[in-house]
Amino acid sequence: MLIQQNVPLAPLTTLGVGGPAQFFSEIHTPEDAIEAIRFARSRKLPVFVLGGGSNLVVADKGWPGLVIKVAISGIQMNDDGEQLRLEAGAGEDWDKLVAHAVEQDCSGIECLSGIPGSVGGTPVQNVGAYGQEVSETIQSVIALDFNTLEIRELSREDCGFSYRASIFNTKKRGRYIVLKVVYALARGGAPKIAYADLQKYFTGAATPPTLLQVRKAVRKIRAGKGMLISSADPDCRSAGSFFKNPVLSAEQFEELTRRASALNLKIPSYPALETHHKVSAAWLVENSGFQKGFGAGRAGISHKHALAIVNRGGASAAEIIELKENIQQKVKEIWNVSLEPEPVLVGF
Ligand SMILES: Cc1cc2nc3c(=O)[nH]c(=O)nc-3n(C[C@H](O)[C@H](O)[C@H](O)COP(=O)(O)OP(=O)(O)OC[C@H]3O[C@@H](n4cnc5c(N)ncnc54)[C@H](O)[C@@H]3O)c2cc1C
Repeated sequence: MLIQQNVPLAPLTTLGVGGPAQFFSEIHTPEDAIEAIRFARSRKLPVFVLGGGSNLVVADKGWPGLVIKVAISGIQMNDDGEQLRLEAGAGEDWDKLVAHAVEQDCSGIECLSGIPGSVGGTPVQNVGAYGQEVSETIQSVIALDFNTLEIRELSREDCGFSYRASIFNTKKRGRYIVLKVVYALARGGAPKIAYADLQKYFTGAATPPTLLQVRKAVRKIRAGKGMLISSADPDCRSAGSFFKNPVLSAEQFEELTRRASALNLKIPSYPALETHHKVSAAWLVENSGFQKGFGAGRAGISHKHALAIVNRGGASAAEIIELKENIQQKVKEIWNVSLEPEPVLVGF
C-alpha cells in the first residue's frame, strides 16, 4: 500500500477548494484499510475518510493527518426473481450503480439518479432526492470498525437512518470505514413519481413512465438546477445543497408564519413529522437577500439553485465559509431560524 505525502485535496472534491493532505492513501481492499489505520495509529495521526468528495469543504490549510481514499470496487448481483440484492464496493460511482439497477429493471433508487459521489458515501448522510431516500433500499452496510479493526455487517436498523443522517455522521462519526453497501431492489417494480417536479414532467404522458424514463427525467431536472456534475456547467462546482431544510416545532413554525405574513410572504412548507414542519432552506435563503447568482467574487450562489454555494474559480475555503456565515446570520436575523450546513467541513 502506497502512502503519499502532501497530496492536494481540492481536485478530489467537487467544490474544488482547500489545501493538501499531510499523508494520503488509496485503499482497494479491507486489508489496505487496516494497514492504513495502523500507519496512522503508529504516528498518532488523525484520519479522514474520503469518498467522491462531493459533500466536502476542505480547509485552506488542508488535513493534518492521513486521508484514506476509499477505492474498493466490484458489484455483485444476487437475484431471487422478485428482489435483486446489489452488493457494491464503497468506491464504486453511485450514479453508475443506479444506471446498472435501472438497466436490470429494478426499482428503488431511480430517483437518486445523478447524485454525485461514491456508493460508500450514500449511507453516511442517507442521501435523498425526488421523493426517495437511500435508507429505503439499503439492506446492510459492511464496515471496518476503527476501534477493533473488525469487519461488521450493520443492518438497516443498526445504521439509525433519518433525514440526512445516520450513525455514520452522528453518534458513531469516525468509527467506521464503509467497505460495501448491500441494496435490496424490487425486480420489475414501478418507478416512484411522488415529487412535484417529476409529476409535472410526466403530466399528460400517454403511458406510465418506465424506470429509464424516470432516470432520464431526474437527470434532466437536476441539470436544470446545476445539480448534475458537468464540466460545461460552472454552477455545479459546489458541494450540492449547502443547507439542510430545517425541521421546526409548531411554535417555531407559527413564529415564522407570523414573520412572513408581516412581510406579505407565504412560506412553502410540508409536514415532516406529525408535530414538526420542514421548511424550504432555499426559500429562507432567497428571502434573506441571497438570490440565485448572488455574489460578484470568487465564491457565490449558483445561478440555478439558491442553496448551492459555488466556487466561481480560484475561491478559497475561507471565502466559501464567509458566504455561508453571512447567509446563516441573515436568515437567523430575519426569520429566527438556524440553518445547519449539509456538507462536511474538513480540517477547520
Ligand atoms: C452537484 C451536487 C448535487 C448533490 N445532490 C445531492 C442530493 O440530491 N441529495 C443528497 O443527499 N446529496 C446530494 N449531494 C451531496 C453528495 O453528493 C452526497 O452526500 C454523496 O453521497 C457524498 O458521497 P461522497 O462519496 O462524495 O462522499 P464525500 O464527499 O467524499 O464524504 C462525505 C462524508 O462521507 C464520509 N465518507 C465517504 N465515503 C465513506 C466511506 N467509504 N466510509 C466512511 N465514511 C465515508 C466522509 O468521511 C465524509 O464525512 C450533492 C452534491 C453535489 C456536488
